Amino acid sequence: MIDEILKYNKEFVENKKYEQYRTSKYPDKKIAIITCMDTRLTELLPAALGIKNGDVKMIKNAGGVISHMFGSVVRSILVGIFELGIEEVMVIGHTDCGVQHINSDMMIEQMKQRGIDEDKIELIRHCGVDFDTWLEGFDCVETSVQDSVELLRKHPLIPKDVKISGYVMDSLTGELSIVVP
Ligand SMILES: [Zn+2]
Repeated sequence: MIDEILKYNKEFVENKKYEQYRTSKYPDKKIAIITCMDTRLTELLPAALGIKNGDVKMIKNAGGVISHMFGSVVRSILVGIFELGIEEVMVIGHTDCGVQHINSDMMIEQMKQRGIDEDKIELIRHCGVDFDTWLEGFDCVETSVQDSVELLRKHPLIPKDVKISGYVMDSLTGELSIVVP
């Protein structure tokens, strides 16, 4: 499958299909969006919001969750604010998210079945990694979005003039519901 992608890429560059995407690293809309890696959103989310190449900084992970006060998502937001001119942050969860109801025990069970050594898992646990907090999904997407918005609003390194709001997108229609205005 990757071979196909590499082949396509060669043609893409040769045919100068990149011309229409040319832009700068500074976001034209001064917005950062934190959302889920769900494949249904790959094209739907930008299309439904009228976002084009060069408009926003898109930060994605499983669930669009900010799980750590000083983790990679917050780091990206800080870079966006202080280096790239971000003035507003949108946290966008979505309906029928794959991260919903994920259970860390079940995932650890899957790891063991795929040949991950149980001793290693125990060692990592022993070193202070709380698997329940780290791997567990969320029950309610609205609550998850609210928690992320709250974390950012209370974050000691994010200036108070940065506007932070939360939404849930319908994974089928792209309709956006406001969770935290
Ligand atoms: Zn999702």
